[in-house]
Amino acid sequence: MAYSFDKKVGILGGGQLGKMLCLEAARLDIKLHILDKDDSFPAARLCHQFVAGDFTNYDDVLAFGLDMDVITIEIEKVNIEALKELERLGKKVYPQPGALEIIQDKGKQKDFYKERNIPTSPYRHFENKEAIEEAANNGELVFPFVQKACKDGYDGKGVQVIKNVDALSKLMDTPSICEDLVDIQKELAVIVARNPSDQMISYPVVEMEFHPTANLVEYLCCPANITGEVARDAQKLAEQVILEFDLYGILAVELFLTNSGDILVNEVAPRPHNSGHHTLDAAYTSQFEQHLRAILDLPLGNTANLTASVMVNLLGEESHTGPVMYEGLDQAMNVHGAHIMLYGKTETRPHRKMGHATLLAENVDIARENAQKLKHILNIKSKH
Ligand code: ADP
Repeated sequence: MAYSFDKKVGILGGGQLGKMLCLEAARLDIKLHILDKDDSFPAARLCHQFVAGDFTNYDDVLAFGLDMDVITIEIEKVNIEALKELERLGKKVYPQPGALEIIQDKGKQKDFYKERNIPTSPYRHFENKEAIEEAANNGELVFPFVQKACKDGYDGKGVQVIKNVDALSKLMDTPSICEDLVDIQKELAVIVARNPSDQMISYPVVEMEFHPTANLVEYLCCPANITGEVARDAQKLAEQVILEFDLYGILAVELFLTNSGDILVNEVAPRPHNSGHHTLDAAYTSQFEQHLRAILDLPLGNTANLTASVMVNLLGEESHTGPVMYEGLDQAMNVHGAHIMLYGKTETRPHRKMGHATLLAENVDIARENAQKLKHILNIKSKH
């Protein structure tokens, strides 16, 4: 079969994920068109065509999509109704809007798992703060629990642990789910890819370590330090999830390995994800190339690791807001095995994701040591 890459691929969102999709698309001469607010966004300088518009607006998404052959996303918070209309008009929209609509809402996502016997932590729905307070005060909801806003959370925003009665005052007043606090041994993630020809393949399991205060992934280690059996079970579960959603493209499945050895699905993202950034440098096929292969119904690439790796998010320093500068970048570039990716955001903010670095080494321990070194050397600050 001969492939031609003259299809127009449209992406809703022009952030760092869009930028990395553009970088990888260029290798195969796939032309990406990006819709986002303005051309200061990271992907704008690299894409084939940039279209200014609002990906949450029905008319903007519809007009953009009508001009494309295949439409995908790099952020979940997009206008679903327009995507549904584009699908109805015969456009290929991956992830499919029906599944994306469920994933956009943490409550609907949990219901989806529960209905299909996909293991996930117990939870309950609440309309607002008052309803949670009432359930907590009459003992129906047991401390500690995790409140998650159903909509619009990201990078730990919209998620909080409520430890006791005193903490009830910080409840978010919005439709939420409250989950049991899981006794987490490790946080794992599996990226799985599937194309419309029904080829499916998963990446090796990664292990995520979280920043203690920012609630963001700090180190991501691959391969995860788990048994072969846990790794196989985690991959099998991720494959079950993509099949249940019947999605094409890639799906990042975040998992909890509990202290009693169970594997629970926390949540999914139907797009390239932070937990797959290392694949740019440390795997045969990056998650970005894989996503493009999947949505264009091309053969999926080898997911094996080329080497062990640790990925570290490069976050804006606390108490620095404004035009960005990268203190120590030159020394950081000398750290052994470091592949640095700067997203090109002009403004830094506390804990904002400004870039990442993947450290390659013969094993995870060495890579982690070098990642710590790099993190110490490289500080992202504002110029004034
Ligand atoms: P986000 O969409 O913001 O990434 P998550 O649902 O992934 O939100 O939650 C962020 C983090 O909060 C998780 O990675 C985990 O560390 C912690 N967390 C979430 N749910 C639970 C839970 N039920 N029990 C314990 N910790 C949790």
